[in-house]
Amino acid sequence: MNYSPNKFSQQPTPAGIAPLGAATVTTGSDTAMAIVDHLRRSHLSLAEIRQRQRRIHSEVLQLSRSMNSANFTRLDHDDLRRMAMLYDREFFGSRLLPTIGRERVKFGLSSRMTRVAGKLVTRHGGGRSRTPGLRVEDRPGGQPFSDPRRFELVLSTTLLFQAFADVDRPISVTGLRCVDRLEAMQRVCEHELVHLMEIYFWHDSSCNGSRFQDIATRLFGHTEHRHDLITQSERAARNFDIRVGSAVEFWHEGKRISGWVNRITRRATVLVEDDRGERFSDGRTYRRYYVPLEKLRRPPST
Ligand SMILES: [Zn+2]
Repeated sequence: MNYSPNKFSQQPTPAGIAPLGAATVTTGSDTAMAIVDHLRRSHLSLAEIRQRQRRIHSEVLQLSRSMNSANFTRLDHDDLRRMAMLYDREFFGSRLLPTIGRERVKFGLSSRMTRVAGKLVTRHGGGRSRTPGLRVEDRPGGQPFSDPRRFELVLSTTLLFQAFADVDRPISVTGLRCVDRLEAMQRVCEHELVHLMEIYFWHDSSCNGSRFQDIATRLFGHTEHRHDLITQSERAARNFDIRVGSAVEFWHEGKRISGWVNRITRRATVLVEDDRGERFSDGRTYRRYYVPLEKLRRPPST
């Protein structure tokens, strides 16, 4: 999921988009071929897509031990795993994750991702692909096949929890307006699932690419590949009137300290002039403090 402002192109996709050729597909198993075929051809009505997405929404909520509501305040990686399995059931007849291999797909949550809402990490097993002793797996189609790759689908809890919280504005993810945090999570999960399928079956993936956009549109009704979830920078500006460059004050070990904001991620990086600090490009020396936004004050204007 990136921040590209480009909307999906509205023109019909050109006939026969090249990289869909079976030769690039990773496995010869019948199930895998059926899924690839489904990715290329599935034509669900928007109403049908929405109905399946709503079913997933209510089941995730029902089955979760962490989520108390659709604007949940706790989330566990099991919730994400369960969501992905429900997508598999609703859209692939529960064949997708077993085909990739359940043990090779992990699901994670990260509070350190402050701008990217989701990511798909591919690990190549840390060795050359021809290393002797490489694990050989029995593919569903009966063909032994060695593929050392492992995948991890990770969502940003920071961005999810900042949505539908203290900044009140409409939120769209993948071009679709979300009414609650769980819907936002579904959209990010859908986007990353498309990355997972592209990487697994075609060995590359880009949400700028026509194949990605074609699959995301037909399967999940996406119209964009960006999100406008609320970042810490937006929260800082809207709630605290603090931006990069703002003069700020905060209390530290009983003293009031003044500096200015150099960066905003989860916390603000505040630079405070200090002879013993490190030298910055303006020739002065500063000490860095990482301060939660809530602890910062704008100095009273004189
Ligand atoms: Zn993406």
